Amino acid sequence: MKTRLKLLWELQKIDNELDKLEELRGELPREIELLQNKLDELQETIKAKKKEKENSLKKREENDDKIAESKANLKKFKAQLLQVKTNREYDALTKEIDYTEELIQKLEQENNSLADLSKKLTQEIEELEPEIKDIQKELEEKREELAEIDKLNDKERKELESKRADVLAKITRADLQLYNRIREAKGRAVVPIKRNACDGCYAIISSQKQLEIRRNDKIYTCESCGRILISAEIENL
Ligand SMILES: [Zn+2]
Repeated sequence: MKTRLKLLWELQKIDNELDKLEELRGELPREIELLQNKLDELQETIKAKKKEKENSLKKREENDDKIAESKANLKKFKAQLLQVKTNREYDALTKEIDYTEELIQKLEQENNSLADLSKKLTQEIEELEPEIKDIQKELEEKREELAEIDKLNDKERKELESKRADVLAKITRADLQLYNRIREAKGRAVVPIKRNACDGCYAIISSQKQLEIRRNDKIYTCESCGRILISAEIENL
């Protein structure tokens, strides 16, 4: 029984070390993810603004063509006006002229608005682009930082994983299942008794229970948190 308890404690110690290595990575993985999302969003925004600017320019070119065409028509209508013979012809032509002048005015106004929009979009894009550069730089720094940490710990992690595999080869399936179940729920599955208390939840362990635990004859769990409690003898074996 002592061997089984010892193996559970061994496994816990290795996992504690692996947890510490994961903690060293800290907030970096999450920070990198958030920055990447922000970067993607910003790039989408700039892309949309560039597209809008492009469409506005295209529309302005179309309008310019229509304006030129209308101006040519206007010139033609005005020349024809000098040669009309009837009132009906005169009315029809002046109507055409009015309509064409209105159309030119409308297109010119639209182009002014489009030019304003273009200018606004250019400004917005210019403001956003340095922000992209800043995020890219920050992202690169954080990625390097994380790679550096991982590189430093790579050897230790591999050693721990190999030790863990050795322990897993010896531990019984039932004990491992129990361990995994508690670990999943509580983080740490096996804890010693420190100052008469469970080292996982700090609940006081009665002297009677401590006496039983010291027998190392079965797996005892903490009544308040469910973690496996081990005696000082197992802890220091
Ligand atoms: Zn406890």
